[in-house]
Amino acid sequence: MSSPAHAFPRQQLEEALLRARSAPFYEGRLPRAEKLDRRSWERLPLTRKEDLRAAYPFGLLAVPQSQLSTYHESSGTSGHPISSYFTESDWEDILSRFLRNGVRLCREDMVLIKTPYALVTTAHQMHGAARSVGASIVPADNRSANMPYSRVLRLLHDLPVTVAWCMPTEALLWAYAARRAGRAPARDFPRLRTFLAAGEPLSAAKRAHIEALWGGKRVLIDYGSTETGSLAGECEQGRLHLWSDRLYFEVRDAQTGDFREEGAGSLVVTPLFREAMPLIRYDLEDVVEISHAPCGCGRTLPTIRVLGRKTGVMNAGTRAFSALELEEAVYANAAETGLWFWRARVRDGALEAQIHVETQNEDAACRRILQAIEATVPGVRVRVAAVPAECFVPEALLSREVPMQKPRFLFGENEDWKSLDYA
Ligand SMILES: [Zn+2]
Repeated sequence: MSSPAHAFPRQQLEEALLRARSAPFYEGRLPRAEKLDRRSWERLPLTRKEDLRAAYPFGLLAVPQSQLSTYHESSGTSGHPISSYFTESDWEDILSRFLRNGVRLCREDMVLIKTPYALVTTAHQMHGAARSVGASIVPADNRSANMPYSRVLRLLHDLPVTVAWCMPTEALLWAYAARRAGRAPARDFPRLRTFLAAGEPLSAAKRAHIEALWGGKRVLIDYGSTETGSLAGECEQGRLHLWSDRLYFEVRDAQTGDFREEGAGSLVVTPLFREAMPLIRYDLEDVVEISHAPCGCGRTLPTIRVLGRKTGVMNAGTRAFSALELEEAVYANAAETGLWFWRARVRDGALEAQIHVETQNEDAACRRILQAIEATVPGVRVRVAAVPAECFVPEALLSREVPMQKPRFLFGENEDWKSLDYA
């Protein structure tokens, strides 16, 4: 039997098209179909990231500017900005779907927000969602000179923080920083219950390793983008449910070019209710797999596995592979190898990896990780070397507490002049 999630949301897509035609970018680009069906929908052109870059800043604006609530940007790897903007109603849509994940935020929670506030949506999404349920917020920010790991640890330890919103790698870095500071991540943060993580793909092996380091605290994932807000959130069973009643999802098969509602391929998304910035068939350039198989949590929404970015795939010899595949291999035996951090690069057709391990026997750890990588990329020459932690984490980030800087113009007798560099 076809579930409601499978149904083609014709009326909602027609309304989305109608709104989109108010935006300069879509005006004239979207033909006026007599009656929309799956086939006519699939003939509509995709909206690509380069389209959004070319439309900077307001080419996709479909409401009077006075109705905007917030303006955001992401830049990705190209450095050219992609704008995104939302009305109050757009935000209500995003916050309410974001809150459906298995974290079950409530007013008793204290949430440490450790994703960026500057221009992107991520911190604002959690900030708005947590406030809307009456939770309290510690707005820690990210990529800020005011927030080294030492300060994060102090906040996590001294305040009754229950949920941390961060990138998965940060949960690993904080565990490392805690150990360095003489604290036990599994024992010394008893109020912390869940990491809600976003911003990078996460392998099952790395997730299991992070959860073990923190004494079994859960790591759940939210999947989204600055252009769209949350697209999917993880349930208590660890499956990532798509908000398919709020957005229409398609996957494009790389071989055939066909669009389907399930299976593996490149993810294409159309928000059904977006007002400020309608997106019609937005190609996120993420490789995913969508499944309509039922989930034990009882949610009827389909689930998605994020396999990586089209742009993140590398080649060595005749093999193509992603960071996620390598990550799965290197963290698979992390409890035994003592692995904290890794990185790898392609050099002269071979794969050169560096690891930082905490173990009595670095050689054995290197051999084990070498074998794991070789099994993942058979036929590729692999080298693995152990390096000091400073190659991955600057010492200053672990130990520094930075006072808030403000501009100063008058100095005492024994003070140095300071510049106006207070960023
Ligand atoms: Zn579920």
